[in-house]
Amino acid sequence: MSNAGELLRTSTLPQLEARVLLMHVLGWRRTELITRDHEALPSDAIASFEALAARRLAGEPIAQLTGKREFFGLDFEVTPDVLIPRPETELLVELALAAIARTPGARVLDLGTGTGAIAVSIAHARDDARVWAVDRSSAALEVARSNAANILEASRAGGALTFVESDWTAKLDASLAFEAIVSNPPYIASDDPHLEQGDLRFEPRGALTDDADGLSAIRAIIERAPRLLAPNGVLWLEHGYDQAQAVRALLTARGFAEVRSMHDLAGIERCSGGMLAA
Ligand code: GLN
Repeated sequence: MSNAGELLRTSTLPQLEARVLLMHVLGWRRTELITRDHEALPSDAIASFEALAARRLAGEPIAQLTGKREFFGLDFEVTPDVLIPRPETELLVELALAAIARTPGARVLDLGTGTGAIAVSIAHARDDARVWAVDRSSAALEVARSNAANILEASRAGGALTFVESDWTAKLDASLAFEAIVSNPPYIASDDPHLEQGDLRFEPRGALTDDADGLSAIRAIIERAPRLLAPNGVLWLEHGYDQAQAVRALLTARGFAEVRSMHDLAGIERCSGGMLAA
């Protein structure tokens, strides 16, 4: 019979990862790993832990093994059908919230919603906002719907979000006028070696790369967004560490004003956006 202390000591995983997987298997809180470390564990729990640890050692992302990831203080379900929410994307949520701060009942559009992390976080923070969440993947929309149902209060979950299966804006009614459009599109260039490293190997390729120069999804969104923006509406896009200048140039060329980039917590220009004057 093994206990938690022994399993953690003998695991070849980084300790933080071993702890997260063991807490997941046992349904324990962090403190229980300490207070209950000598307790004999059921053999099926030990076997589940060993199986997950082996999958982790083979590279599978922690978020896919536990089926969840925290984003903007909320717990999102994660499957292999969606991009795993990243902390730097919280900047995009903050920019959207700032853009609609003084607009009661604001309409927001999230293009390529994946887990729904951005759309659901905005709807959660602003219970008067109406948020449209678009993805071309029906499997991703299932995950986003489930996250909205789990995270938003029942009274809200029905009306706050509208899910649309669409290739970017193709299926959206042109009469919708959004105060803010946000997107974390696939922006990794097809030849970027990062696609073959770490978690990215297990995430949907279509959520990561445009299979071109990394800017084609961004170009498509900047081209189409103006038709769906309300007067003085804003567009904010997340992009790669070396794409800010190119994205600003695309926004300016399309007629956006107040074009600027914002840094993430790592000091990287991570989001660029602008306003479309009335
Ligand atoms: N930020 C992710 C990464 O570099 C990429 C996400 C995306 O392409 N939108 O791992």
